[in-house]
Amino acid sequence: MEEENDMDQAHGSARGTSKPWKKHEDRCHLRFTARTNKPFILERSEYETYRGHIREGAEECYVSFPGRYVSGWDALTSERQNYSVACLFLCTPEDGLGQHYREEASGPCLCHTIYGERSFFSYLLVLPGTLTDDEVTRRREIAKHVKAVVIREDATPEARQLAEEEARKTWNENGRVASWGCQGFQDWKENVEEAVKLKQRLKVVFFPGQVGQGKVAWEDLRHELDLWDDIGCEGDQKCEIAYLDKMWKEKGDDWAYDSVDVTDFLKDEFKVGGDVDAFDGQQWWNGTLLGVPKTVPKDPRDAKWVVQSQDSKSRKLWSSSSQTARLRWQ
Ligand SMILES: [Zn+2]
Ligand SMILES: [Zn+2]
Repeated sequence: MEEENDMDQAHGSARGTSKPWKKHEDRCHLRFTARTNKPFILERSEYETYRGHIREGAEECYVSFPGRYVSGWDALTSERQNYSVACLFLCTPEDGLGQHYREEASGPCLCHTIYGERSFFSYLLVLPGTLTDDEVTRRREIAKHVKAVVIREDATPEARQLAEEEARKTWNENGRVASWGCQGFQDWKENVEEAVKLKQRLKVVFFPGQVGQGKVAWEDLRHELDLWDDIGCEGDQKCEIAYLDKMWKEKGDDWAYDSVDVTDFLKDEFKVGGDVDAFDGQQWWNGTLLGVPKTVPKDPRDAKWVVQSQDSKSRKLWSSSSQTARLRWQ
């Protein structure tokens, strides 16, 4: 195997097979896709609404996670975990998408504190040409919920400019708040509060090799030029982490959190030797996860996952990148 030096190898054990949670209905789809375009919150068209889940007996609570790691998010929210999850993802106005939270009825919403007045881009949703029809439909629906202007990536410069002007106009008309709203941030705060009350240990997950990087102080958030600078974690995480740091300082160690590399998180979730369904580009195979990347590079396209088919005739072996790997637990 050419990737040998970069891989954790299987040692003949099949640790994954005896897991009690491995039910047919609870398949995990191992799909890594790099999506770094803004606005990120509007781009996870494959995600379902998730409100977080604080479990009473849990010892740990994941409070911040880089959402571009799709398989990681899938594992986090799969409801087969013992830990709590404070992270949430809102898809519709009924869930809170595009809604704003005000401490006082006549006061400003949270957007002014956490995003400042620079989220004009959140009213422009660019559609890459690589999307499936379903994904396009889904993103258009989300755009409608948050009043964002939709433009195709391959649009003419003139069309692009028009779309930007329109987005800027909508942004102004809406008081220059973020299109996706700040209700989600308030709901997240309440989740974390509950976990702290239950004395759960808080966990914050960062990009590979960038643990603790890219932090912004709470009072600087509104002035920060670009929260979506791809350093350390996602832009929305920077607001969360700033809040956690502030609370840790003000309220003490009940608010302390551990910083985790997403590589370590993924390797805890996807163990070498586990039975998976893997897609080789043409068809699904019953396979065994033989190798996972020793490190997960920032660009998921660079990480290699190796699967061997369990078909007794072919014993086909293939590897694919974190970008294209499509695996799910059998
Ligand atoms: Zn799953
Ligand atoms: Zn707001």
